[in-house]
Amino acid sequence: MLVTVNQHADPEQVQAELQGLGLWAQRLDSHNGPTTLLIAPYSATVSIETLRAVAGVQDVHAARSARPRLDERVRQAASIGTTVIGPGAPPVLMAGPCSVESEEQIQSAALMVRAAGGTLLRGGAYKPRTSPYPFDGHGEVALDWLRAAADAHGLGVVTEAMSEQHVDQVARVADLIQVGSRNMQNFALLRVVGATGKPVLLKRGRAATIDEWLLAGEHLLAAGAPDVIFCERGIASFDASTRNLLDLSAVAVLKHQHELLVLVDPSHATGRADLVLPLSKAALAAGADGLLIETHPDRRLAQSDGPQALQPDALQALGEACFL
Ligand code: PEP
Ligand code: MN
Repeated sequence: MLVTVNQHADPEQVQAELQGLGLWAQRLDSHNGPTTLLIAPYSATVSIETLRAVAGVQDVHAARSARPRLDERVRQAASIGTTVIGPGAPPVLMAGPCSVESEEQIQSAALMVRAAGGTLLRGGAYKPRTSPYPFDGHGEVALDWLRAAADAHGLGVVTEAMSEQHVDQVARVADLIQVGSRNMQNFALLRVVGATGKPVLLKRGRAATIDEWLLAGEHLLAAGAPDVIFCERGIASFDASTRNLLDLSAVAVLKHQHELLVLVDPSHATGRADLVLPLSKAALAAGADGLLIETHPDRRLAQSDGPQALQPDALQALGEACFL
């Protein structure tokens, strides 16, 4: 963003006023024109109207937004079935197993989620796996088990569409369609998911910038999605103590700068059940509109992501600490 200084004003004075608003600017002097101040990208968020009102500011030039549809969603809540998420609503809990493994497993999970204050049941029928060999989901039949378990306990459904081929099946049962981290920039998939007209949970790619993530959200809206909920699930890091690195700065940027809907998934971020509760609290403190938590009735039997799954008592404790 560029701020032009009125020729009768003192540029240093204007610069000081801007710094008072949290805006750091580089001075670009010109020989024959007015002094211009280039606002540093890591500055605070200040509206153009506020800037124009600063004494000595002649004009403000901002690039046209590359995300006009997201801009319209600013400060808007979204409805996922009967769950409202966003401004004015309490934080939401979406929880369930990594994979839907059996009818019994997902029924027990639904009971636990409901008791902990959850309103959406998660579970994968199609699982993206880094290696081609492990269990990768039971497919369509698991979608039916998931829907039935959610209905039996008054919950909505969130589940992942991993490929364009399965989007229709997933849209048939899901109240919220998840696009996984590995697919964040699969634009062909985003187009098909957006065209279903369902709200979308867009997980952040493990090496995606916030801008890339936002633009992926714009793709979904452009394709017809009514709402996008961004989900921070950890990014790549040099440190192997946790599975990924939970980027709480990104949560604060999405919430407090862009004022969009953002969820945090501390399960995939840490890969460790023992760290899920403290990071859940931190996520809500940073402004998250809710949490996506992996849980399992008996994680010793989990066919995927067992180490990060909360056992029933731990899910209940999290529910009582954050939602009930
Ligand atoms: C998941 O939610 O189970 C999952 C695979 O998440 P991510 O895409 O964040 O790895
Ligand atoms: Mn998982």
